[in-house]
Amino acid sequence: MAKIIDFVNYGVPLELAERAKRLNLTKAKIQAFRRPELMQMGLSEEDVKCLKDCLVRVPIPDETVYLLLGNSNSTCCVCKGQKGQTYIIHHIKPYATSQDNKYENLIVLCPSCHDIAHHPSGLTLGISAKNLRKRKADWENEVALANSHRAAAQFKITSLGVDYANITRLEQACRGLLGEIPALSGAKNLRNFGVRFHADGTMNIDDILERLSNGRFLFNFPGSASSLYWIELVEQLGSVVPFHDINAADTAGVTALHSLSGQFAFYTGFCQGERVPEPIRWPSDPINVSAELDNVVINFAVDPLYLLSATAISRIRERNRYAVYFWIRSVDTEPAMTKTTISAIPLLIAAPAGFNGFSNIPWIPTNEYERHMMDRESRKKDDDNELL
Ligand SMILES: [Zn+2]
Ligand SMILES: [Zn+2]
Repeated sequence: MAKIIDFVNYGVPLELAERAKRLNLTKAKIQAFRRPELMQMGLSEEDVKCLKDCLVRVPIPDETVYLLLGNSNSTCCVCKGQKGQTYIIHHIKPYATSQDNKYENLIVLCPSCHDIAHHPSGLTLGISAKNLRKRKADWENEVALANSHRAAAQFKITSLGVDYANITRLEQACRGLLGEIPALSGAKNLRNFGVRFHADGTMNIDDILERLSNGRFLFNFPGSASSLYWIELVEQLGSVVPFHDINAADTAGVTALHSLSGQFAFYTGFCQGERVPEPIRWPSDPINVSAELDNVVINFAVDPLYLLSATAISRIRERNRYAVYFWIRSVDTEPAMTKTTISAIPLLIAAPAGFNGFSNIPWIPTNEYERHMMDRESRKKDDDNELL
């Protein structure tokens, strides 16, 4: 059976693609059947014309479609979903003259805004290519920020599970992006352990060395209360910059991955690290902790100084399931290699499993596209049930 994306990637409106799919139509059948035959199946003359016209095109690559839908939350970039939930992938420079299926020439629109986009621009009703590109960029930024807000809101990793917090990087990122290190409730817990803060909000490293360390490593885990602060700092960052979902980006293709260089991201899944040389001294050399996805290898440069406990030091070298919040230093795809390599600076690493009885991460990042399609499937089932 044809997948919906098989029609959507030819520029067929989603709503029509779904109807065609329900009629068990495939590309081959639509091309083979004559127009009256298709109309007898319940399609309008307009539907048939649209299908016939679209299916002679070169399809938009799947990865481009997923990227467009993911970055727009499958929602019209012009009205932001106010005029309807269904969508169509529109060519900003018309396909007939451009045959341009590149990401930059495509935009997700609802049928109503799509009609407007096909009015010649310059008329009151039309909308220019330049304007469409601007609307797309604006909406994609809004979606990215909303996604990161949601990720931050859903960030429920228990403070008992935090294994690593690069406090220096977290402080730097907060000062750069928030302009300051915000006053957070978790700081009180650290003060209770005897850690003082400078006027600019940064922690006094000497206090950490004296109070939280036994001289073996920088932070000796004094209890879950101290970890709350690291989580709060990441949440604060997540409220002003998007944290990209690497598990979703893994399927979005090389171009999408390369656009993430210099951005923040998160990953959940297995990691395996090198052995930490002990004793840990300051300054220390970072060890590599890597995660392997379908199309991506992430190399996390983990500074052993910021591992929060002896347990964390031994756990990091095993293969464990982790949630990692990080900054992407570079993205490389070697010509001979099948996978893209991401070099990353982790800000926070949380160990979800097998730790004081916690069985899993309570938070699972959503792949927007999959979530959308699942919602859609369940809505459709509801509709079908109503018909019975
Ligand atoms: Zn719209
Ligand atoms: Zn169009």
